[in-house]
Amino acid sequence: MSTTKPGRGNWAEVLEWSRTLPLSEFKARADAVCRQHHGAGVWLRGLIEVSSYCTESCWYCGLRAPNSQARRYRMDTATLLETVRAGYAAGLRTFVLQGGEDPALGPELVAGWIEAIRHATNDEAAITLSLGLQSRQTYRLWREAGAQRYLMRFETANPQLFERYRPGTTLAERLRALEWLRELDYEVGSGFLVGLPEENQTDREAAWRLCWEFGFDMVGIGPFIPHPATPLGTTERPPLELCEQSVAAVRLLLPLAHMPATTAAGTLHPKGREAVLAGGANVLMPDITPIPMKKDYELYPGKVCVDESGLACLPCLDLRVRTAGKVIRHGVGSAPRRVAR
Ligand code: SAM
Ligand code: SF4
Repeated sequence: MSTTKPGRGNWAEVLEWSRTLPLSEFKARADAVCRQHHGAGVWLRGLIEVSSYCTESCWYCGLRAPNSQARRYRMDTATLLETVRAGYAAGLRTFVLQGGEDPALGPELVAGWIEAIRHATNDEAAITLSLGLQSRQTYRLWREAGAQRYLMRFETANPQLFERYRPGTTLAERLRALEWLRELDYEVGSGFLVGLPEENQTDREAAWRLCWEFGFDMVGIGPFIPHPATPLGTTERPPLELCEQSVAAVRLLLPLAHMPATTAAGTLHPKGREAVLAGGANVLMPDITPIPMKKDYELYPGKVCVDESGLACLPCLDLRVRTAGKVIRHGVGSAPRRVAR
């Protein structure tokens, strides 16, 4: 099994460090690699949660179709564009459209949104989609309309756990869709949940390896937070350290990747985002969804910052970033083309 790839960390070396070094030292190495390639800058991405409808039944997610208590909304085009314009005026230059797998968000509707956002932002902003599994043809349509990036986590590298927690789909299917996205010249983001029930260290190491093999341009790693109205609702939250370790490992393996300090890390622990920003992460994704809607986009309970607009959060994020010895950077912040493959 090869342990080297150009432009990436040495697999065997990083694995060895993860097993032998104290977490603080492992994180310090990841931080040094992050600063070497990305400086002290932290890119901002404006997250817009466009629909809380979902046809899927993922065991971990509050938006799963069988959750009859979930409040459902679908953003209309005018609200979406108003949200983008406000973000643009506040200096944001990347917008991430995320949602459940909602058949009402048809290919043509989303393609129209992409074109309208490009117009509203004078073609100066990057458009990222995170709308789950779609056909290759749909991904192509959206790419041609002008979306540059796509985020879709593989969630777990353990195929049995994947099939249990995402019934009706397989890990292989998800990875094939990620390959399509790469072929279509998207900047491809993926990542995984840390701390799903029955996940173990071998599974996490397999997830690091998968990131390393694929060479994602962006990697989002967040802790699993149980939602009471799901089949995993009574399980334990993982310790933040597991998440910190995975972020540091993937940073060392993929020095060029963009890696967010996730809202879930900030929900798990008051200093969760700062902790991962100090150990490899270089992106923050303020949630700029209008307040009544973002409260209803409840993947897990207790999500931070749901009572204020994401734009009002910017000064607070600035402080958090400084606490980690970093500074916010404005701009499109494309992936250094690309994480060497
Ligand atoms: N529906 C699309 C998909 O599944 O790829 C995009 C939206 S989905 C809500 C975005 C991410 O939320 C998922 O990739 C998953 O990792 C995360 N998520 C869902 N439930 C979660 C939970 N209980 N705790 C932490 N993260 C969760
Ligand atoms: Fe739907 Fe995505 Fe939640 Fe699964 S993780 S239930 S696909 S929104």
